[in-house]
Amino acid sequence: MRFFLSRGPAAGSCEFREANDLGATIIKGRATAAELRGYIAKRVAEFGDARGSVPGLAVVLVGDDPASAIYVRNKARKTKEVGMVSFERRFPLEIEQSRLLDHIRDLNDDDRVHGILVQLPLPPQIDANAVLNSIDPSKDVDGFHVSNAGLLATGQNGMVPCTPLGCQILLRRHLGDLAGAEAVVLGRSNIVGKPMANLLLKDNCTVTLAHSRTRDLKDVCARADILVSAVGRARLIGGDWIKPGATVIDVGINRVPAPEKGVGKSKIVGDVNFESALQVAGAITPVPGGVGPMTIACLLSNTLAAAHRITGLADLRSFA
Ligand code: NAD
Repeated sequence: MRFFLSRGPAAGSCEFREANDLGATIIKGRATAAELRGYIAKRVAEFGDARGSVPGLAVVLVGDDPASAIYVRNKARKTKEVGMVSFERRFPLEIEQSRLLDHIRDLNDDDRVHGILVQLPLPPQIDANAVLNSIDPSKDVDGFHVSNAGLLATGQNGMVPCTPLGCQILLRRHLGDLAGAEAVVLGRSNIVGKPMANLLLKDNCTVTLAHSRTRDLKDVCARADILVSAVGRARLIGGDWIKPGATVIDVGINRVPAPEKGVGKSKIVGDVNFESALQVAGAITPVPGGVGPMTIACLLSNTLAAAHRITGLADLRSFA
């Protein structure tokens, strides 16, 4: 391994990246996320000086799914670390939709709360779209409300979903101007794939949005200068799917058996076969340590931006 200092072209700031012996740069999302959280902590302190209070993020959790509980705990910890207030609202799995909507209304009306996040998935008796669309769009820090999705789809400024926003920051920092690049996004979910495609369009890429029914997926991927995978299939994409020199952003989080770590052990891998991709790609995000940390950092960034807008402070300058 060798390490070198490179200059993020869009941000003009320095960050350590790691290049492996085969030449592909490993885009270290964890380091960029730490830098972003440091930036947010400073802005939160300034907000406190100007307003006499700090931004607040409310996270709503229904049920006791262990993975969701871990995500919520992590979000609360990181929220407090940057100096914001964290509100956790936990409800039993069998809660009725009307009661949940009442609680969201209370959070919409609460002046201490500038961001509201509903942890997905929700149980089957709840219409997730109804809940997401009941959040005040100005507090919709996940960017899932239909009006924020509409703003993004029409190229206007609104709240942008955190995971694609994190990917955009990493891409801009690594590549600078994205205009004209051939971008392929795998996965068409409302949470990752579709907003990612819209962000790349806004950055003037030529975008292909591929999914489970796309024909000749390997050939589609092979023409990408920028390949973003948000599929959820372990190591679906091999090195032979990747255009030499391409920038690969691996959003996938897949748990696979890891007998090398001991009997019954498992580990997290991405959608991309990392080892074979390293031999072909120009740059790639690792899993874990790539996109994941950026998602929470962008949630905090969205909450800070929401607090600025709601309280009438000037908009923040963009981190990326
Ligand atoms: P999803 O299940 O809602 O969507 C998956 C998409 O992949 C679908 O659009 C489907 O058409 C497509 N797909 C499925 N199989 C395919 C195949 N064989 N070939 C091509 N396309 C295929 O999932 P999601 O919520 O968008 O998440 C996708 C992945 O990203 C998951 O692994 C999830 O855990 C991960 N994720 C990571 C973060 C993060 O912070 N790193 C955040 C959100 C999601």
